[in-house]
Amino acid sequence: MEKTDIKNFTLSELEAYIAGKGKERFRAKQIFKWLYQQDAVDFAEMTNLSKEFRQELEKTSWISNLEAEAVEASADGTKKYLFRLADGNAVESVLIPDEDRTTLCISSQVGCAMGCEFCLTGTFKLTRNLTTAEIVNQVCAVKRQEPVRNIVFMGMGEPLANLKNVIKALKILTDPDGFQFSTRKVTVSTSGLVPEMAELGASVTVNLAVSLNATTDEVRDRIMPINRRYPIKDLLAACKAFPLPSRRWITIEYVMIRGVNDSLDDAKRLVRLISNIPSKVNLIPFNEHDGCAFQSPTQDSVDRFHKYLLDKHVTVITRSSRGSDISAACGQLKGRLDKKNQAEV
Ligand code: SF4
Repeated sequence: MEKTDIKNFTLSELEAYIAGKGKERFRAKQIFKWLYQQDAVDFAEMTNLSKEFRQELEKTSWISNLEAEAVEASADGTKKYLFRLADGNAVESVLIPDEDRTTLCISSQVGCAMGCEFCLTGTFKLTRNLTTAEIVNQVCAVKRQEPVRNIVFMGMGEPLANLKNVIKALKILTDPDGFQFSTRKVTVSTSGLVPEMAELGASVTVNLAVSLNATTDEVRDRIMPINRRYPIKDLLAACKAFPLPSRRWITIEYVMIRGVNDSLDDAKRLVRLISNIPSKVNLIPFNEHDGCAFQSPTQDSVDRFHKYLLDKHVTVITRSSRGSDISAACGQLKGRLDKKNQAEV
């Protein structure tokens, strides 16, 4: 009989699983706390459960775990973790320290089907979705090494293309008996899967980041193929409809690419497009990488764009390129390691 990985369960699913074994539902909370607050990797550690119950659990269930196969540290403190999955695939997580808010960027898929032109992960195509356990185990593994304050689903993959498992992982991350992250500290980033945005908002309270990156459908069609299915108008309508708790904003991610989307006209259009959405803008100067013809914007064009938004009272942050010496941008670690492995074969 194949054993059940209990890290694939939300608390309510675990309660049902435990009830099916004739045990009280509150036992599920005890197990959940062991998994996500005590980082237990073995039922034997769960000493407030009877020995018989622990033995029974061991017969039918198991606790999955991830250990980093490689960790690279950048001069600016950014750390990149490579995790090898049970089937041999690999994903990465990136830990980005900041003065008061260390953020862990986690992956939701192996590869990605969205094919954004500026992204290295997109060139790997989609291999498969991560399980709920594989998503939360990235957090367990990094928390063992470093404190983590914020979680962003901005690593490999389009989280909303793996919606069922991502929603379950979000429930575990924010459960008071699970990881106990405040919903203010957890952000899901999407390239713009419009129907799934509504489903996400109806299922969990979470921060939303939308990767916009263009101000006309013509440009967005070219750099983000998802736009041909859900054009800018539909995407922004979904942003406006997204249920936000009071005093929260949608983050509009805008990767600036030289000569593609970095003009003052783009800045003007951007201000108009987001004028009726509670939002803040993250400007991210494009990081040049092998195999992609796009170029980084000039500092002047970034400064001009930033200033125009500020002058129009848009909340804007220009993100510095963290970890560029270790290729910590989306998907680059796996890219490099896989190339290395291929060269060794
Ligand atoms: S930017 Fe995100 S959605 Fe687009 S290809 Fe890369 S990982 Fe996928």
